[in-house]
Amino acid sequence: MKIYLDGKFVDQADAKVSVFDHGLLYGDGVFEGIRLYQGNIFRLEEHLERLEYSAKAILLKMPWTRKEISDATCETCRQNNLADAYIRLVVTRGVGDLGLSPWLCPKPSIFIIADKIALYPEECYIKGLEIVTVPTRRLNPAAFSPAIKSLNYLNNILAKIEARQFGAREAIMLNDQGYVAECTGDNVFIVHKGEIITPSATQGALKGITRGAVFDIAKEIGVPIREDNLTRYDVWNANEVFLTGTAAETIPITKLDGREIGDGKPGPVFAKVLAAFHKRVLTEGTRI
Ligand code: PMP
Repeated sequence: MKIYLDGKFVDQADAKVSVFDHGLLYGDGVFEGIRLYQGNIFRLEEHLERLEYSAKAILLKMPWTRKEISDATCETCRQNNLADAYIRLVVTRGVGDLGLSPWLCPKPSIFIIADKIALYPEECYIKGLEIVTVPTRRLNPAAFSPAIKSLNYLNNILAKIEARQFGAREAIMLNDQGYVAECTGDNVFIVHKGEIITPSATQGALKGITRGAVFDIAKEIGVPIREDNLTRYDVWNANEVFLTGTAAETIPITKLDGREIGDGKPGPVFAKVLAAFHKRVLTEGTRI
């Protein structure tokens, strides 16, 4: 496997970053998870825009143009002869000293990996996933905005560990006010009385690219969609629940906290969203 690392393609075994890189020492950096579908990178421009927003939020000045990053991303897929892949694009603060000061890191690093990912077993996509709400709350935006896609995922990792402790593969995280924020790597949607509802970014949800696609799909299939505060009660009593994310794509939820969602099977609105999503990923991409 060839990895793009700071302007060069290197073999996986040689793709190394320094132990003094602040991405490693402090989680100081930003990233994107992107998908390649049959030679098309889904919504690449949106991913690169979000990367720029994340970098700006942590005052990390990227010395590359969007075009350079875009070209490097496409080239990474080509170098590995991939038509379908999960792409991880990482920008770190770079090498500094042992203190946390970012000013002592003169040069950010960038690396791009294109590989496969399987977030949940295949049967969960057909039968639905059973999940739980976990005690760990999503980060308070006043402390660190969950809209920033940073290298610090410990908040999400703790929630994932808790999910497993409760025998589930995924976790709903509430925000500090007790409203649903998102899952550890996915956005949450409910379908209730013919409407699709999802928490807003101010409730602690990342502005997912897949989430954005669901807003477009809802318009296309004629289902009203809106952002609103959601409690666990709202989710338990929804007709349908599903998650979205680049890695997860779209996946139905059939149980939350031991409560069956709807009739316990993936629902008709989800089926329509899924079909429309599969079409879009083939048509809305940047050709590599
Ligand atoms: N929330 C979190 C915390 C995530 O890490 C992700 C994955 N990037 C998402 C939501 C979904 O976002 P996207 O659809 O852009 O992958």
